[in-house]
Amino acid sequence: MNLAIMVHGGAKEIYADEAETHKAGCLQATQAGWDVLARGGSALDAVEAAVRVLEDDPTFNAGFGSELNSAGEVEMCAALMDGASLGAGGVGAIQGVRHPITVARRVLEDEPTLLVSHGARRFAETHGAELCDPAQMVSEGKRREWERKRAAGQRSGHDTVGCVALDRDGNLAAGTSTGGTNTNPPGRLGDSPLPGCGLYADGTLGACSMTGDGESIARVVLAKTAVDLLDGGRHPDEAAQRAMDVLRERVDGRAGCILIDTAGRIGWAHNEPNIAVAYRTSAMDAPHAFVHKCEEQREGSSEHAA
Ligand code: ASP
Repeated sequence: MNLAIMVHGGAKEIYADEAETHKAGCLQATQAGWDVLARGGSALDAVEAAVRVLEDDPTFNAGFGSELNSAGEVEMCAALMDGASLGAGGVGAIQGVRHPITVARRVLEDEPTLLVSHGARRFAETHGAELCDPAQMVSEGKRREWERKRAAGQRSGHDTVGCVALDRDGNLAAGTSTGGTNTNPPGRLGDSPLPGCGLYADGTLGACSMTGDGESIARVVLAKTAVDLLDGGRHPDEAAQRAMDVLRERVDGRAGCILIDTAGRIGWAHNEPNIAVAYRTSAMDAPHAFVHKCEEQREGSSEHAA
């Protein structure tokens, strides 16, 4: 059976001096997920492992280093979806946990649902999650950026993280984790923890993780739209691009996505200036990471076959 994993570190403007840290973070996360797959672990375990690495890396808007909301606090959303059962577990607007993706995993195992705010934190407390003071999830860099952007009335880019994977039993999983955007009012839920919107996994077709403008993504149920576009054997690159077309044509939205199919072929597309991604398939000796520009020529899609 082919193994495959792909991660993204968000679709946004990535300046030349930021490219290396984005690539390094995505590579490390892909390797962590790959190690799980290579020793026979499940796609869910691999996705959780990869997203945990990205949540620890302040380069990305998830876990430590999340965007601050309009009140200057970190509130996080994350979800995991299992393609075999169509079960999804998620947390929304949660504070004071180190790894929202692991809390989402526990929710999925306990009873697939979406828990938000204090209820999610209470669940984390009673299910052995790593807890912390909410202020400990605020990185100095994001605090400074928040102050600068707030003064200038600017919005941050979309640097939510996500991962999709295929394991040796042919199971697919998707995960997404975010700190939302710097203009979030407290309590806002974007697309990221909503099955069908910020992530989707269907064992008969494929799995998808999104990043981008959550309100637009949700209006066209974009992750499920992208997965459905795999029907008939369409290549994930083409399905991802068509999903972006739907987003632009129907709601004029901005986003990026990664997509994997049941054969372990991977694809991605975005209409934000850049996207940071990394992937590894059974056909490769090591993960490959890059920052892609929206108008740039695609790397040949045959390269992404498992
Ligand atoms: N999709 C996320 C949200 O709307 C934001 C992002 O991708 O950065 O919460």
